[in-house]
Amino acid sequence: MIRALWFLLKVAVVIAAAIWLADRPGTVSVHWLGYAIEAPFWVALLVTLAALGIAALGYRLIRGLIRTPQRIRRHSRARRRERGYRALTQGMVAIAAGDAPTARKMARKADGLLNEPPLTMLLSAQAAQLQGDERAAKQYFQAMLERPETAFLGMRGLLTQAIKSGDRVEALTLARKARGLQPNTPWLLGTLYDLEAQSGDWAAAEGTLQQAIQAGAIPTEEGRRHRAVLLLERSFEAERRGRADSALSHAQAAHDMMPGFVPAAVRLARLQIAADRLKPAAKVVERAWRQSPHPELAEIYRSLVSSYDPLARVRLFQKLVRQAPDSAESHLAVAQAAIEAQLWGEARQHLNRAMEIGPTRRAFRLMAELDRSERHDEDAAKDWLAKAANAPEDPVWTCNSCGAVSHNWGGLCGHCGAFDSLTWKAPTVAVPVMEPTDIPPALARPATV
Ligand SMILES: [Zn+2]
Repeated sequence: MIRALWFLLKVAVVIAAAIWLADRPGTVSVHWLGYAIEAPFWVALLVTLAALGIAALGYRLIRGLIRTPQRIRRHSRARRRERGYRALTQGMVAIAAGDAPTARKMARKADGLLNEPPLTMLLSAQAAQLQGDERAAKQYFQAMLERPETAFLGMRGLLTQAIKSGDRVEALTLARKARGLQPNTPWLLGTLYDLEAQSGDWAAAEGTLQQAIQAGAIPTEEGRRHRAVLLLERSFEAERRGRADSALSHAQAAHDMMPGFVPAAVRLARLQIAADRLKPAAKVVERAWRQSPHPELAEIYRSLVSSYDPLARVRLFQKLVRQAPDSAESHLAVAQAAIEAQLWGEARQHLNRAMEIGPTRRAFRLMAELDRSERHDEDAAKDWLAKAANAPEDPVWTCNSCGAVSHNWGGLCGHCGAFDSLTWKAPTVAVPVMEPTDIPPALARPATV
């Protein structure tokens, strides 16, 4: 409606102008180079307007012709970029699908078409890795270090390669450099903490652990346990250097942090016994027993009460066991003390209770010992020992990382070098046996960090 009105208005203006011109007739005469041209005014006006229109058209035509090569170049650049991004996308899809040859082909194509090294170098490195060409991947990662926008990604690639190849010294150097580039990256803090702990740099690991907890890379509760393990390792280190006070104070700090953590309680109680502080040592064992009844604690308790007569020893064990009456470990501990005190009925009652909670090889072996000692019944003892051979295995310190087992606890797995990986559990498969270490393999090599 509005457009129709607008059109009518324009027609009205043209008609008005034509009427206005018709009412005012006149002529225009031009004398030029001996020629004389005379025309009515409206004809002259039309000719002038037509000449202006032709000139404008000519100008646009010439300008279009001049700009054509530039347009062709721009169009071909846009097409190259489009093809480059398509190759990049196809390369990424190939990586996700695990198709290494296509990934590498697309990486090369994208590299040729796009002038975007940050994007294509990462794709090329990943494609090379997928094809198992770690050397080529390393070259790409190293090239990425040259550019500020890709340096961190390159560092991450090299760090992952170093960890994968087991080169912990190189990995630690790279992780520290990467922290210099991006100090608060959670995965990096978690990795750096692991590497520092595995290299035995306990003090540095403690600092990084704090940062990793704050950045959310390690949950708070898990972080507490890691701190306790680090403190225990510092305690072992202090002892090696002959600093008994420091060894004791670190063990005390670890135990205070996690009273139910068996290695901390065992370590503290042993150091206290060595310092002739028997009463505090007994308190440590009792406190830990409440949360984590454990044969190593029972063994320490046995040494603490060894000066008492057998009956008194049983009474003291009964007191200990009241801390955790529903644990098989508690009943096994009293049973053993009762066998030593020749309290056969008491021993049998606690062994039966331990069997009800969970029969293990140790419980069957104690039954055999009881029948042999009380009734001199060798046949019954043999039966129990046969049952022991088929019973579930007793728990041992087992590495969560490699599955190796050990009868002693340590902060580092002696088989794979993982930090804080030993947990007290029954082994489920055939596993290598190792002794944990607190001297990390990395320290045996020349220190480059
Ligand atoms: Zn291991």
